[in-house]
Amino acid sequence: MNQNERICHEKTPKGIQTALDTLAMRKPALSSVVLAFGPVLVAKAEVTARLSENEVNKPDLPELDWIRFSKGVPLFAITGLMDFHQEFKQAAHMILPPMAEAFPGIQSDIEAIESNIADNSLDAEMCVQAFAENNTRIINAFAARAGTGPDIFRFALAQIAEPFKQIQARAFSPLMKDHPWPHGHCPMCGSFPAVAGLIGEEGRRWLQCSVCAHEWRFRRHTCPRCENTDQNLIENFFDQNSPVNDEEQVSVCKLCDTYLLTIDLRRHIDPVNMDVAAMSMIDLDIQAREKGYSPQAEMLWNLMK
Ligand SMILES: [Zn+2]
Ligand SMILES: [Zn+2]
Repeated sequence: MNQNERICHEKTPKGIQTALDTLAMRKPALSSVVLAFGPVLVAKAEVTARLSENEVNKPDLPELDWIRFSKGVPLFAITGLMDFHQEFKQAAHMILPPMAEAFPGIQSDIEAIESNIADNSLDAEMCVQAFAENNTRIINAFAARAGTGPDIFRFALAQIAEPFKQIQARAFSPLMKDHPWPHGHCPMCGSFPAVAGLIGEEGRRWLQCSVCAHEWRFRRHTCPRCENTDQNLIENFFDQNSPVNDEEQVSVCKLCDTYLLTIDLRRHIDPVNMDVAAMSMIDLDIQAREKGYSPQAEMLWNLMK
């Protein structure tokens, strides 16, 4: 695989902030979305920037595990998540306040979780372990201690965990190089893509994971969600009023009723932040939803509709 063919990313907090500012100027109608969710993207990038993929243990997997992998078992399901309990409290302190602002409907819940983590009422090591093992008993008990429901608590934990999954995915990426992954879900964490990018002369399609931000090549005319290849059941459309025209598209699959945003990056020279790019395509999201399709993976700004 030619590494130069990959999407050229902007993942620094400063670069993301610049992309957000540019978006708010380019599409003033989206300023409120940028104001609400931009700080969450920047906060996560700030947590990620504090970590180094060189410090993540890279496992030497036996052949049997690579056979499971080739059948579609993601790497994190084989290796487990990295232990991030030492950075957990700091990450919660950075990510949860902008989350609380972005989701007014659950603001007091998120604030309560943050203060319970800050004063050690919720033990960091147990939080991380319960999240990694999806331990319902502890999650329910901790949620009750913070005075919230298990779903909101899980949601908060998942947000705090994202930068660590991203770093683990970056660290594990070289391990995969001799192991093909022909599947539509993420080879690292198993989530579905948030957005696709077309690059290279032939417009090869790369999918970006909605959770760990790992990217992987995937067949251009196959639905990642259900692997449908029947072109009669796949439709692409773009916003006729958009100045960038068909550079920003949405592909819908009529078999599994989902959609995926796609950005043609062949005319982009500068690095892009794919999350901000996806945020800029909310109008296409809305059009696809109005036609009855669901996103392959939820983005934050789609959650509370
Ligand atoms: Zn992933
Ligand atoms: Zn499908």
